Amino acid sequence: EVALRAALAEETLRLHYQPVVRISDRVITGAEALLRWSDPEHGNVPPQVFIPLAEESGLIHALGDWVLRSAAKQCVAWRHAGLSITVSVNMSARQFYREDLAQRISDIVKAEECDPSWIELEVTETSLLHDLDAIRKVLHQLRDEGFTVAIDDFGTGYSSLTHLKHFPIDTLKIDISFIADLESDPQDAAITEAIIGLARGLGLKVVAEGVGTREQNGCLDVRGCDAFQGFWVSKPLEADSFYEFVRKRR
Ligand code: C2E
Ligand code: MG
Ligand code: MG
Repeated sequence: EVALRAALAEETLRLHYQPVVRISDRVITGAEALLRWSDPEHGNVPPQVFIPLAEESGLIHALGDWVLRSAAKQCVAWRHAGLSITVSVNMSARQFYREDLAQRISDIVKAEECDPSWIELEVTETSLLHDLDAIRKVLHQLRDEGFTVAIDDFGTGYSSLTHLKHFPIDTLKIDISFIADLESDPQDAAITEAIIGLARGLGLKVVAEGVGTREQNGCLDVRGCDAFQGFWVSKPLEADSFYEFVRKRR
């Protein structure tokens, strides 16, 4: 916790960006910002380890602000360089405990001269469970400002499907666990197909996470999935490498 606090203060944290690929024409339309921490003493610490730590210690608020500010800054830089990329930012359930969250998010993004419609906020399904009315209010405020909202790791949480009706949501992200054996496991294929159908019916965009092979991409394509992320196309990259990657692909 002390080391993480120092990393935040000294700005030694990094964001990597994973391309989001539109399936119909394979164009990269987005980037998910993923936090990276390399500590001189502890080495590379994965987010699954330090995010919960930040949540417990309350550091998540400052960390979340930093991530959003950096992602917005990067998004604007790419836009100026001719890349029209939507940047997705992960939000922790804990961040919703703050009453002024919507205002804060809006202030941070606008201070970077970033248009809110260029930013998608990812919330996990489980984070929608905590304080329903408060979260719904925050999400509506953000939507009114022009942000889009995605449900991350969809299919693994405990949320009720009625949430899809009552929360202002734009995108469902199919959890990586359903994609891993998509070609060989009929149950995973059925679940994936059902999520895509649900999204279509509700007029939501659907993005598959963790696509590792051409065959998985094919399975998603025939089922009508909109976009995917995954090692098949690219791992999360540093901002400069991301830019080069998109430029070369064109
Ligand atoms: P997530 O938001 O669901 O992000 C997707 C994770 O899947 C990332 O792991 C990404 O590197 C990984 N991934 C992408 N494609 C593939 C693939 O083809 N195969 C496999 N095996 N993995 C793939 P990462 O970067 O380790 O992040 C893990 C989780 O940590 C994220 O899951 C997110 O919940 C959390 N996280 C990361 N950055 C932030 C952040 O800035 N704020 C918050 N609150 N959480 C974050
Ligand atoms: Mg995510
Ligand atoms: Mg996910």
